[in-house]
Amino acid sequence: AKDDGRNTLRFFVPEMQASLAQRMDMERQLRGALEANEGLELYLQPQYTEQNVICGAELLLRWENNGKFVPPDVFIPVAEDSGLIYQLGDWVIESACHIGARLQDDLVDREFSLAINVSPRQFRQKNFSEKVLEAIENHHLPRGLIELELTEGLLIEDVDDTVSKMLALRESGVRFSIDDFGTGYSSLRYLKSLPLDKLKVDQSFVRDVLTDSGDASIVRAIVSMARTLELEVIAEGVETEPVRDFLISADCMRFQGYLYSRPLPLNEFRKLLNNDRDR
Ligand code: C2E
Ligand code: CA
Ligand code: CA
Ligand code: CA
Repeated sequence: AKDDGRNTLRFFVPEMQASLAQRMDMERQLRGALEANEGLELYLQPQYTEQNVICGAELLLRWENNGKFVPPDVFIPVAEDSGLIYQLGDWVIESACHIGARLQDDLVDREFSLAINVSPRQFRQKNFSEKVLEAIENHHLPRGLIELELTEGLLIEDVDDTVSKMLALRESGVRFSIDDFGTGYSSLRYLKSLPLDKLKVDQSFVRDVLTDSGDASIVRAIVSMARTLELEVIAEGVETEPVRDFLISADCMRFQGYLYSRPLPLNEFRKLLNNDRDR
């Protein structure tokens, strides 16, 4: 065992067995949830401008299993490993576009983007672009509404495939952001060659920006890099006013985090949108 040594070990270390069994159990239950279309829901976390106006939302998947919410950080990796991510990803895209259609009346005269998280394996499917475009068309969504959040790792993995998919989608008005920006290792030259619209500053930098001067420098560097590349920049994980104030002083344009709102079910998000309009 050379190349596959680590994988093989993973299955035979005794302490791992419980967790493997748990993962298989989770996979089975998640498959059941998808088949019954039960317990899965997309929540919306609003994104704000400097003037505190809602300018978008990120869709975050929630799974309620036997009365308990399983965190996506736990079940998404299981879905990725098992291949269930294809079915789950299709469900997310379809539900996202359905939500987009239901929001249309609330979005008149408003700049707004609806961001979908895309996992690497999901993006690598041959017909990924076609699937997304078909869902957008079926729901008659306007150009520019749908944004896809990709990670740095995904972007640098198979550049030709990445670029051709991005270009096909972009032609129909799909926008792209890089999620968790700063945690990977993409170069400036490389970023410049991709059809991107936005960088999302990872929350690990945002969190400690007031106490960790290294993180503060990183955030400033990312914002100025975005400016150079003519990309929008949004900070996620904004939890306090002082952090928001720092970000504004660093020229960040968009904000998302518990300071503003937790992720909300569609109906609550709509109420928020309409209050926002009435202000
Ligand atoms: P992410 O894409 O980086 O999403 C941001 C996470 O931070 C979300 O966790 C969100 O609820 C949380 N968050 C938002 N504001 C704050 C804040 O102010 N402070 C803190 N501490 N956290 C905040 P969530 O919903 O548990 O999702 C975790 C991860 O699961 C996501 O990280 C994403 O990688 C993945 N995920 C969620 N939904 C989907 C999906 O539909 N598809 C895929 N492929 N992945 C998803
Ligand atoms: Ca995200
Ligand atoms: Ca993120
Ligand atoms: Ca830190």
